[in-house]
Amino acid sequence: MKLVLLGPPGAGKGTLANLLKSSLNILHISTGDILREEIKNNTTLGQEAKKYIDNGKLVPDELVTRLIKNKFAKDDRISKGYMLDGYPRTEQQAQDLDKILKEEKKLLNYAIYLDSTLPVIIQRLGGRRICRKCGAVFHIKNRPPKKEGVCDLCQGELYQRPDDNKTTIETRMKEYLTNTKPIIEYYKKQGILVTVDSDEESEDVQTILMKTFNENGKSHNH
Ligand code: AMP
Repeated sequence: MKLVLLGPPGAGKGTLANLLKSSLNILHISTGDILREEIKNNTTLGQEAKKYIDNGKLVPDELVTRLIKNKFAKDDRISKGYMLDGYPRTEQQAQDLDKILKEEKKLLNYAIYLDSTLPVIIQRLGGRRICRKCGAVFHIKNRPPKKEGVCDLCQGELYQRPDDNKTTIETRMKEYLTNTKPIIEYYKKQGILVTVDSDEESEDVQTILMKTFNENGKSHNH
């Protein structure tokens, strides 16, 4: 099963991916997580990406597509399927991904569009906390950890992403509307778009999606 998760920042892509990961038993690939790891390790790529991420801007296409190609080439688990979270984010990236898939003679099964309203997005991003160690996503009100500031899964420290501040969120939303939203149409034309109401709890979205996958067959494209 090969999926891409689309939607604005705060739509719940990461939370949903973590839930689906266990029910589908496939890899969760988040370009945001990979970039944050590069920044943490202070690599040349991380230093370059940081300039954009800190300002809420999209990292250049060429750089993120290189990351995806590396991941695909290095991780054997890819052949079992994957969920791309936060990639593609531009039409160029969607075309690049199609090119990669074509070379592998593979097709995407679904593009899942998590449709969320602005008040919900703002509330979610404002209270979001991330585990420094495993990347699990919590929320101080909606999804509080058992112990404040500590990850339920690995006991790692929870932190607030520096780009989850008001000014940067505004820029990220603008980037989303200008560059990412148009690719919903791109996947609609391919006939693989599934839209879900992502103002709902992620567990409910997961249930709806699993039902859709089971009804349509997991690989209706093959
Ligand atoms: P995320 O964790 O998905 O919210 O991504 C955090 C930040 O990483 C974004 O605001 C972008 O600056 C950058 N980023 C992540 N994925 C991409 C991508 N596919 N294309 C460009 N920039 C990206």
